[in-house]
Amino acid sequence: MKCKCGKTAVIFKRYDGQALCKDHFCRSVEKRIRRTIRQEKLISRGDHVAVGVSGGKDSTLTLYMLSKIAKRDKRFKVSAIIVDEGIKGYRRVAPVRKICKSFDIPLHVATFKDSVGTTMDAIIKKRDILKKRRKAKTHEIDDDVGDVKACTYCGVFRRKVLNEKAIEIGATKLAIGHNLDDEVQSIMANYIRGDLLRAARIGARAFVVKDKRFVPRIKPLRSVMEKETALYAMIKGFDVDFSECPHGEGSFRWEIRDMLNDFEVRHAGTKHSILATFDRLLPFLQKEYAGQKITSCKRCKEPASGEVCKACQLIEKLDV
Ligand code: SF4
Ligand code: ZN
Repeated sequence: MKCKCGKTAVIFKRYDGQALCKDHFCRSVEKRIRRTIRQEKLISRGDHVAVGVSGGKDSTLTLYMLSKIAKRDKRFKVSAIIVDEGIKGYRRVAPVRKICKSFDIPLHVATFKDSVGTTMDAIIKKRDILKKRRKAKTHEIDDDVGDVKACTYCGVFRRKVLNEKAIEIGATKLAIGHNLDDEVQSIMANYIRGDLLRAARIGARAFVVKDKRFVPRIKPLRSVMEKETALYAMIKGFDVDFSECPHGEGSFRWEIRDMLNDFEVRHAGTKHSILATFDRLLPFLQKEYAGQKITSCKRCKEPASGEVCKACQLIEKLDV
């Protein structure tokens, strides 16, 4: 298959019928990222954008593009934050340090251990003990802690830790590497759970409530599909980590991911269509929840939408 320029194509995008060579493909990805930043007004003059990096392809691409743009127009500053969740063999800081150095970006390290007081490995161990005890009925356990998925703990804590670190380094925006697939998975997950408040927070500018305790999150990769970010990383030779987390199996999000991938194979364009439809609904949702109050968690004083924040609820149930 040939690209429009006559060179051999590296990708055929079934969703829009285009075949592109290496150069045209990379340009198309970069163009979409720039367009998202511009159209959604993700970055303003004087911003300090912290990029949440993991060593994976998506956050590396986010960091690469933002550092490239910042170097040229010098209107904003970029830093990187890595969160070490404490998962043995996963999330290695050293390779990320190398990547940041090659882009000339300072890296800040935050850990679950320092911020939450425990690690993901310890949390899962504890959860499994509680689960076993419940099964053996040796203890009465009055909550469903055994059913909490690893990714629920991880997601809630990572959000908290990233936000804390971003505030600490004086960041005004927090960029995350969510691609189109991630975004569509979030949309479907919230539809299925009926969580419209959460759905209202989806979007390239992922914030409804303005509060100085929250650093606004931005998603520059929102219009780029997962397989495109993977191909881009491969073409550019980013030294990224493709390893999978040992705790990730069987999460609700993964089931949704598989369902969407299956649908996309049979009906090309499904993911783009879900996103486009959602974007038409989003202004209505945002209006509905615009006045939502943020309070302080009575345990940790961090921002919360109820009396106790989600992180403290999870910690309490685990009794760590
Ligand atoms: Fe955390 Fe789940 Fe990702 Fe593992 S797969 S790092 S547990 S969110
Ligand atoms: Zn071409």
